[in-house]
Amino acid sequence: VLKMPSFLSDNADLQFYLDGGIDWELVASLTERGYRDPQGFKDTADARAFYRDVASMVGEFAATDVAPFVGELDRQEFRVEDGEVIVPPRLDAVFDKLARLGLHGLNLPRELGGMNAPMLLYFVSCELLARADVSVMAHHGFHGGTAMAMLVLSLMEGSTELEAGTGRITRTRWPREIAEIVAGRAWGSMDITEPDAGSDMAALRATATEGPDGWTLTGEKIFVTSGHGKYHFVLARTEPPADGAAGLRGLSLFLVPAYRDEADGTRTRLSTIHRVEDKLGKHASATVALGFERTPAELVGRRGEGFRLMLEFMNHARLGVGFEGIGLCEAAWRMASAYAAERRSMGKSLDRHEMIADYLSEMQTDIVGMRALAMDAAFHDEVAYKLGLFGALDTTREQAAARAADHAAKARRATPLLKYLAAEKAVEMARRCLQIHGGNGYMKDFGAEKLVRDALVLPIYEGTSQIQALMAMKDTLGAVIKAPQKFLARVAGARFRAASARDPLEARVAGLSQLCLSAQQHLVTRTVAAKFRTVRKKPLASWREELFSQWNPKRDFAFALLHAERLTRMLADEAIAEALLAQCRAHPERRVWLERYLERAEPRVRFLLDEITTTGSRLITELAEPHDLREAAQ
Ligand SMILES: Cc1cc2nc3c(=O)[nH]c(=O)nc-3n(C[C@H](O)[C@H](O)[C@H](O)COP(=O)(O)OP(=O)(O)OC[C@H]3O[C@@H](n4cnc5c(N)ncnc54)[C@H](O)[C@@H]3O)c2cc1C
Repeated sequence: VLKMPSFLSDNADLQFYLDGGIDWELVASLTERGYRDPQGFKDTADARAFYRDVASMVGEFAATDVAPFVGELDRQEFRVEDGEVIVPPRLDAVFDKLARLGLHGLNLPRELGGMNAPMLLYFVSCELLARADVSVMAHHGFHGGTAMAMLVLSLMEGSTELEAGTGRITRTRWPREIAEIVAGRAWGSMDITEPDAGSDMAALRATATEGPDGWTLTGEKIFVTSGHGKYHFVLARTEPPADGAAGLRGLSLFLVPAYRDEADGTRTRLSTIHRVEDKLGKHASATVALGFERTPAELVGRRGEGFRLMLEFMNHARLGVGFEGIGLCEAAWRMASAYAAERRSMGKSLDRHEMIADYLSEMQTDIVGMRALAMDAAFHDEVAYKLGLFGALDTTREQAAARAADHAAKARRATPLLKYLAAEKAVEMARRCLQIHGGNGYMKDFGAEKLVRDALVLPIYEGTSQIQALMAMKDTLGAVIKAPQKFLARVAGARFRAASARDPLEARVAGLSQLCLSAQQHLVTRTVAAKFRTVRKKPLASWREELFSQWNPKRDFAFALLHAERLTRMLADEAIAEALLAQCRAHPERRVWLERYLERAEPRVRFLLDEITTTGSRLITELAEPHDLREAAQ
């Protein structure tokens, strides 16, 4: 039998997750809402067989319908004609097939025309597609992702109704729009960035106002991925700063259709496409600059809730970028390995030369480690949001909410670590792949340079690497400051575990935790010491208030902010080691991966701790000086 090439069947590590490395029992029962829907699967085995089939289908699609055409996809260009973006033919063909395979409805419930597959399967698809081409993956994400956002936001604001017995959806706010997307006739985008506001969303200027006929929105958005689509989720200001609701609290979320197709076949545009951005890479993904001018808009949720709602699905998008990075790393590692096995230098193939062998081995280890973190994050995220939205079937709503909160906390912790690490590693591995190709790597024929161009955007969008590091640092140190007792208990716990664990690998993981906790302790101590210095200048009576409630993150966290990225790298190594250790309990064959990961992570984490504890003071002192003094000194 001739086997179809597939990006799943050649990937044993990815198959591990489909075969049992994830608690599919829980994921499937929540996704199938307790198997009460007569049109659904009858049990976990049934559901899992289907999931496996879908993953195989995507693996084959990526390998046969996308990968062979990436050169062409990279070279073809989008054009703007009469205000509309013209999509190149090869890309059109890829998306025609994706629609025919039903993949735009992958996660949507059956009653909305979808396959009702878990989000985890979407993330697996992200990895498979990204290994072929990150642009295809990104644009695909703005189909089903937009439809899912419509459903989830509607559930959150209470405009979706469920049938009591089966949990089936009987009413939702955007059924027509969702159907259009599932059929492949429309897609959406997430419009946040403006010419003067990127990471700093509090500076956004697009404005929405409410009139007698509803809301309209005016403003300019740039760098919008898939912004040539119909359904734009737009973040805009509804409360002018003068009203006292400045910054993030003055933002609201809107669903804004960019055009309307008329009955006579003509199209009325409700927004203006200014251009398709001319980018370094990701050439098969359109990045659009567009403007809204009193465009009719639908408010989503409540006024002033925009930032919080946007974060909800931005977190999903960040998980998506994590899997995108892993897919790109997988492509880089495989391309580099294949070349190194063939190319000979100084009497042997490149992969027999120690340095190159070390590169390839590290790349593979990092990929396995990151995938463990990614699956863990996606699992907790899915369970949290399904428990939160639908409730657990065999417990009370309160119990379900408590369990959801626990899973949500785990997902929240892992997400910035994953986004940070997978994006940075994608760049590193793409570069290594190019380097292993030598001069050929620099030539367009081999595809290694495309990986570098494509990878470089991953640390920039969906929150830059620096923003991920700030989030991880603030969450981690915030928790220490809020509950120092708990932190001390963790320190004691890690010490005990390192000394007493029977499994030597577990003792090493605990040792890694100890180093991470030391870094946190050092950063908190420095932060609190700095705070004491500022408090000393205040009257004694205000100390208590100053120390326990008056925290200014910009001023008081300076030292920790300086080391946020180092701390993030340590936390990511710790999280990966813990995830691999958890796998070893049920799957002893995974021990080899934990061992390989620890071998790399231990010296790295020791080095980072050394940097955190010995550097930075001089710069912090300089930064604390008034700006003009510093300039005068230079
Ligand atoms: C290909 C592509 C696709 C994109 N798709 C979308 C999309 O679909 N929708 C959308 O809304 N946007 C999109 N973006 C925009 C992207 O999200 C922003 O570019 C990104 O958030 C960074 O914002 P900025 O470009 O304004 O950079 P800035 O915010 O100006 O940042 C510049 C540099 O300073 C760093 N920095 C900023 N603040 C801090 C701080 N407090 N501490 C330390 N460092 C800091 C940043 O990390 C970065 O390195 C896309 C961008 C690209 C390139």
